[in-house]
Amino acid sequence: MSFKDHIRQQIHHNGPMDVGTFMGLAVGHYYNSRDPFGTDGDFTTAPEISQMFGELLGAWVCDLWMQRGQPERFVWAECGPGRGTLMADALRATAKVPGFHKAAQVHLVEMSGVLKEKQVQKLAGHDVRWCTQIEDLPDDMPMILLGNEFLDALPVRQFIFDGQAWGERVVGLEGEAFCFGFVPLAEDIKRVLPREAEAGAVFEWAPARDMIVRQLMQRPDTTVLFIDYGFTEGHGDTLQAMRRHGFVDVLDNPGEDDLTSHVDFAAVKRSAGDAQVFGPVTQAHFLQGLGLGTRAAMLRQHASPEQGQDIDAALRRLTAPEEMGTLFKVIALSNMDGLTPAGF
Ligand code: SAH
Repeated sequence: MSFKDHIRQQIHHNGPMDVGTFMGLAVGHYYNSRDPFGTDGDFTTAPEISQMFGELLGAWVCDLWMQRGQPERFVWAECGPGRGTLMADALRATAKVPGFHKAAQVHLVEMSGVLKEKQVQKLAGHDVRWCTQIEDLPDDMPMILLGNEFLDALPVRQFIFDGQAWGERVVGLEGEAFCFGFVPLAEDIKRVLPREAEAGAVFEWAPARDMIVRQLMQRPDTTVLFIDYGFTEGHGDTLQAMRRHGFVDVLDNPGEDDLTSHVDFAAVKRSAGDAQVFGPVTQAHFLQGLGLGTRAAMLRQHASPEQGQDIDAALRRLTAPEEMGTLFKVIALSNMDGLTPAGF
């Protein structure tokens, strides 16, 4: 049975499903059946654009470890590491820091078997452990965790105000085709919904994101850094599907297109509880603050003219306002006392 038939069957048996359930199933199938990155794939992420991205994040983690007093052991975790490129670049950039690699216990949180294989190859020679969910990360030592374009892949539910009341958007079937529908609220979740809205307004809620952030920040001695596209206020329907670097209809090909939504950074902040919050700032602000310009200049010194052009192009893609510079934001959450993460 094809994956689409599998979803059709579930709708036949159980009725229309909420958008979060639909998205969770689609994203699970998508990452478990392909490597979607790069020019031949569906989209390109920052670590795949330039080695500088992972190098600077490696330096960021190392700086925090030093500020924290260089603990002898700590968990260096990454959620959704894709091809493992960020971690490989980060480890290379920090290899010469005395004691740092010895202290770092590297853990990758990855649900996709296909991508885990890529990570195993990319990180050969390093001592790395894998798990499929954050609950499995060791909690008996300090932890620094990174997540680039991880939160956007977690399922989001959508609510629509019809002028009188909020209802939930669902996915049903019209013949063989998937279609959106609208049902009255089945559970008491008014607390997460805005009190006032205009007729037709869409509100998104990503319970899985809230839960992951909450769980992470309930651990002692933890700092996390998330980088993603998103907003801090005022949004509507941000669910999107990408295929071969272009936007497509989200209902067209579940499981075969990259389904994501923009991250609500205000919600991330709220879920952080009592933890200290840094940012969100734009990706351009963050990377420039970490010395992206200087790093690019260093690489250019040993580069051919062609490589020099590539470095300049990467710099532009990562920081220009019309590229990733402004849409992408960076937030750090920490309950390690008295630390000042770089870049904010
Ligand atoms: N950070 C990488 C990849 C981003 S794509 C980069 O920047 O290139 C999203 C990644 O998150 C993939 O590795 C995907 O398999 C993983 N992922 C998505 N949902 C997940 C979940 N619920 N649990 C664990 N990993 C997940």
